Amino acid sequence: MCEIQYDELGPSKVIHLYSKKAQLRAIVVVDNTALGPAIGGVRVSPLVSTEEVLRLARTMTLKNSIAGIPHGGGKAGILVDPKGPEKERYFRIFAKQIKDLQEYIPGPDMGSDEEAMAWIYDEIGRACGLPEELGGLPLDKLGATGFGLSECAEVSCPYAGIDLKKARVAVQGFGSVGKAAAWFLSEKGAVLVAASDTKGTIHCADGIDIDKLIEIKQSTGSVINYGEGIRMETEDLFSRECDILIPAAIPDVINEENVYSIKAKLILQGANIPATRAAEEILMKRGILSVPDFIANAGGVIMAAMEYAKKTEKETFEAISSKIKKNTGLILEKAMQEKILPRAAAEELSKDKVLKAMRCREY
Ligand code: NAD
Repeated sequence: MCEIQYDELGPSKVIHLYSKKAQLRAIVVVDNTALGPAIGGVRVSPLVSTEEVLRLARTMTLKNSIAGIPHGGGKAGILVDPKGPEKERYFRIFAKQIKDLQEYIPGPDMGSDEEAMAWIYDEIGRACGLPEELGGLPLDKLGATGFGLSECAEVSCPYAGIDLKKARVAVQGFGSVGKAAAWFLSEKGAVLVAASDTKGTIHCADGIDIDKLIEIKQSTGSVINYGEGIRMETEDLFSRECDILIPAAIPDVINEENVYSIKAKLILQGANIPATRAAEEILMKRGILSVPDFIANAGGVIMAAMEYAKKTEKETFEAISSKIKKNTGLILEKAMQEKILPRAAAEELSKDKVLKAMRCREY
């Protein structure tokens, strides 16, 4: 059992759920609700730990706060195999168990999707990331997170000395986030020169046709079947000549081993924690600007909050654009003036907001 570290923000509740009859274990952490009921995803894996849920819940507190949405941070973990046959039953039992925990609003995460959110909603009447038929805004279909990354690029490019209209872009992980980011950036004039997935990297210095690459990835399962340019190993993506690099796959891929090979001037963090803290410090010393995940990829969580508030698709895209542009400017100004990491600037601003809200609340 992990030892819980309490600090000035939380966690406010750490709950371990157990159904003997269903042999189901789950963990819910409500980290902080000063800004409103906590929103955070439900991670489904036999390996989810209390420590992991605690860490992710805190990340949500900070992400929701700086995104300016009226929600605190929380997270849940259900300790079952997400591909198992009894998925619906487990979600329905979990939902019943959290019915009275009104300050937690579940959302999708690894191992849970919009169908799972529909089961939870059916049981308890609250969840975000719902199917369109239940009033949901389809996050990946609309490419909200990728759109947010392209808005973030507009503000951060001048700080890195890049002209976005001619920028060369490399995307690590050509999935929901990576594809949409490449597409929205190309609408602003940028050119995709490299993309990767688990099978390898494709590099075309003259530019990649994004619609064609999306179709190839969809039909063959990998970007390496693009048919033009040079095929390389997955890891080679990081050393390609480009202006903007977007890691959009898994954590810690930019680390002390490969950070010196990066040639980009600007990194927009599409994935969560794609760079280690040590790598972020080296990037700063090398003059490479790196906009942290909870600013750059906040499009997803802003969409979840807008969906929960029953806003339209148009209102949601306007909110993503204005919030991400404003926050990118704020944290980059602060980071430049105080000579600190953009991540440190973002953490400070978002924590400050939560602490101010806490002073107005009784508990
Ligand atoms: P996805 O599963 O749709 O796509 C991930 C892609 O990355 C796949 O193409 C996969 O082949 C590739 N990949 C995996 N490991 C790789 C590696 N080592 N090197 C290169 N490519 C690799 O996932 P997604 O929804 O696009 O999410 C990507 C990341 O962004 C995750 O870290 C997720 O937590 C984060 N994120 C997603 C959203 C969202 O809106 N979906 C919002 C915020 C953050």
